[in-house]
Amino acid sequence: MPRPLITLALAAAIGAISLAACGAPRASAQMAPPAAPPPARPPAAMTIAAIPSGATQSSAAMAFEGGKSSDKRTFVAGAILVDHPRGRLLFDAGYGRDLAQHFKTAPKLMQLTIKPVLDATVADQLAAAGVPLASLKAVVLTHAHWDHVSGLADLPGVPVWVDRDELAFINSGDPAAELARKLGLADYRTYDFTDGPYLGFPRSRDVFGDGSVVLVPAPGHTPGSIVAFVNTPDGRHYALIGDTAWQAEGVELPAQKPMLTRFVDHDPKSTWIMLQRLHAAKATVPDLIVVPAHDARVWANLPQLRPRRAE
Ligand SMILES: [Zn+2]
Repeated sequence: MPRPLITLALAAAIGAISLAACGAPRASAQMAPPAAPPPARPPAAMTIAAIPSGATQSSAAMAFEGGKSSDKRTFVAGAILVDHPRGRLLFDAGYGRDLAQHFKTAPKLMQLTIKPVLDATVADQLAAAGVPLASLKAVVLTHAHWDHVSGLADLPGVPVWVDRDELAFINSGDPAAELARKLGLADYRTYDFTDGPYLGFPRSRDVFGDGSVVLVPAPGHTPGSIVAFVNTPDGRHYALIGDTAWQAEGVELPAQKPMLTRFVDHDPKSTWIMLQRLHAAKATVPDLIVVPAHDARVWANLPQLRPRRAE
């Protein structure tokens, strides 16, 4: 082989090897902890409450790389209510009354392997707690997958906030957003991330202007997935991370979804970057309570929405 060609072949081989090394996700290549956000000023009356609507049974092996199949996990689905004096926000909508029909839009592999069970819809639990639908400022979707939008059908008239990338995803015809598209009654409204960097995320939206609820784009699981940072007056800090990880270990370790279920991530590489970013955020805010949308253990430790006692 002529000398220039040998050099070229060598360069190509070295390039390929270094590219492969860069492409491989490595937990050791940790992101530096981000700057701390400015202190939040949540009003004293603000509260947060979990509203689990039902669950499926699975295992850690299905949730994150390295998880064991003997480690059984309950995958909860529901909503989280943030009650702020300037408006009530519901994060996601959980399972709705038409769960059986809605589940038919889920990925086929899921339909064969899991069995979601409805306990009580978010709408019914809000009614039992004396929270009128008309008092909800919005349902804020962490993303538009079926198990996060199913309950929207029971919440007529409540605006549904999605960022522009997620609305484009819903309208794109992607099968993963079929139910969100079918729920034509949903009143989708978009918003922009017009505020500055927040805990390592380059853009944000400070919903009430007091740092109590800050939304950041976290594309990966879906193109317009978000993380909601919620800071309550008791000094607690929450990160509602949707399905960026299904169970807490996804951020703690950090660890991606296992190969078998990673197909649910629209862009697995971006999802992995978001997991590392959240892992780094926890170094800056060690008491950050990371709330995956489906980790029943984490949800059990959140304040719960209680039915109003009969007088
Ligand atoms: Zn999802």
